[in-house]
Amino acid sequence: MKALIAGAGIGGLTAALFLHRAGVEVEIFERAEAVRELGVGINMLPHAVGLLAELGLLDELDAAGIRTRELVYANRFGQVVWHELRGIDAGHEVPQFSIHRGRLLGLIHRAVIDRIGAAVIHAGCTVTGLRQDSRRVLIGAARSDGTTLRSSGDLLVGADGIHSTVRAALYPDEGPPVWNGVMLWRGATTWPTWRDGRTMAIAGGNLAKFVFYPIGKVAGDGGLRLTNWAVMAKAQAAQARALSLGD
Ligand SMILES: Cc1cc2nc3c(=O)[nH]c(=O)nc-3n(C[C@H](O)[C@H](O)[C@H](O)COP(=O)(O)OP(=O)(O)OC[C@H]3O[C@@H](n4cnc5c(N)ncnc54)[C@H](O)[C@@H]3O)c2cc1C
Repeated sequence: MKALIAGAGIGGLTAALFLHRAGVEVEIFERAEAVRELGVGINMLPHAVGLLAELGLLDELDAAGIRTRELVYANRFGQVVWHELRGIDAGHEVPQFSIHRGRLLGLIHRAVIDRIGAAVIHAGCTVTGLRQDSRRVLIGAARSDGTTLRSSGDLLVGADGIHSTVRAALYPDEGPPVWNGVMLWRGATTWPTWRDGRTMAIAGGNLAKFVFYPIGKVAGDGGLRLTNWAVMAKAQAAQARALSLGD
């Protein structure tokens, strides 16, 4: 059996590892010229971590990220309104990880190369369309050098992100995703350890919010953490609507 996968993001590469483990041949098509370690912080909850643990990647996750212990909610003045334990500290079998999205993608990508081989990933190759009958699925793809490529398989996994071409082909009447009106400014900064170095905080309400959590240790300095921060705010039009609705 052969599976085609559109997108070498977190979903596509993880699907490739599971399919390969089940004995399925995989071929992956990625629009970007290379799988690059981009992004800032991402939080992986135990149900997702459990799957990567099943793939034997827990040590790599520990080396790259932080086992989140506690989540603190505060109002916009910083007054704590709720706090709760997370991951193993909350009784789950596996941790919750706060991690740099690029480092997470990197460790999954290395596992694909080690276990399946780099040749199964066609980088610089955008899936442009698909056709299927009761037995096979056929995809068309455009290479960055202007040439085209066709491939066929028993199934196609559409893991090509929020503006998915595969989804648009399967659900042509759905239209593009609807924006919820929230603007997000975010970054990752080396910052002094806050509390135990494993606590994340969310402060504010529905109109404006600040999110802060450590995502990695800093080599040679236990007092510092690579720290993710994000500021979210409802954009003006959406804010006016929310206020009129009493949101
Ligand atoms: C560059 C980048 C940075 C991100 N940074 C963060 C972050 O800091 N924090 C956070 O919480 N989330 C981030 N995300 C989103 C997060 O990775 C995903 O929402 C989540 O991991 C779901 O993964 P996914 O595999 O479904 O999609 P994604 O991780 O979005 O991956 C989709 C992949 O498909 C590729 N692709 C798109 N269209 C096609 C096509 N037609 N043909 C072939 N390939 C295609 C894209 O280049 C991408 O590599 C980021 C996503 C990207 C792409």
